[in-house]
Amino acid sequence: MTSNIAHELKTPVSSIKGYIETLLSSTEIEPKKQKYFLEKAMGQTDRLTGLINDISVLNKIEEAGASYLSEKVKIRKIAREVKENFKFAIEARMMKVEIDITNDVEVKGNRSLILSIFQNLVENAINYAGENTTVRILVYNEDKKFYHFAFSDNGIGIPPEHLGRVFERFYRVDSGRSRKSGGTGLGLAIVKNAVMLHKGDILVRNRNGGGTEFLFSLPK
Ligand code: ADP
Repeated sequence: MTSNIAHELKTPVSSIKGYIETLLSSTEIEPKKQKYFLEKAMGQTDRLTGLINDISVLNKIEEAGASYLSEKVKIRKIAREVKENFKFAIEARMMKVEIDITNDVEVKGNRSLILSIFQNLVENAINYAGENTTVRILVYNEDKKFYHFAFSDNGIGIPPEHLGRVFERFYRVDSGRSRKSGGTGLGLAIVKNAVMLHKGDILVRNRNGGGTEFLFSLPK
């Protein structure tokens, strides 16, 4: 993990350095080009910030999981909040997000971690599922202690040989595409660790009709 982190952090840092070096070394870069390099460097600092945030969340879950406060969290409200947060990206891709959860579905857990579970899953659907796809979030089962959620899309799916590894830190099916979309490769690791901290389970599979389905449980 540590050597992975170093590698992942070095990539944006060396690219920022490259842009700055270019700007410093040549005296006659036209303003339009200068702006272009600065924007590129800015994009890489955003990427760096995203990486550091994700690494911090993972570390906190692992090292100080008990310090996350637990409260009652309404899942329909969370899902709606996430949908609203990504409204523009969802519309731009002509996607639909269907939330089939009643208002009484309440889990016991940490609000910000549960929000980040749904946030990461929606973000992935936006980045990978493709245009004109539909995301569905629903409760497919409940027992005495847990609600069981299904989060699915009808997009491109994940090639079967990668399915077993997507929850690993920094694992990406197509790293070029993931980096382009701003992905850190840590999203699903955060999702899995957050579910497990709540003593739930999670699995991913491809749907028969195409697309990806995440099944996970959170405590009542
Ligand atoms: P990233 O930062 O690359 O998005 P994640 O851990 O969130 O990292 O996801 C790991 C990989 O799983 C992604 O790079 C992507 O290839 C694949 N993936 C995740 N969600 C989906 C999805 N809904 N449809 C297709 N592929 C997905």
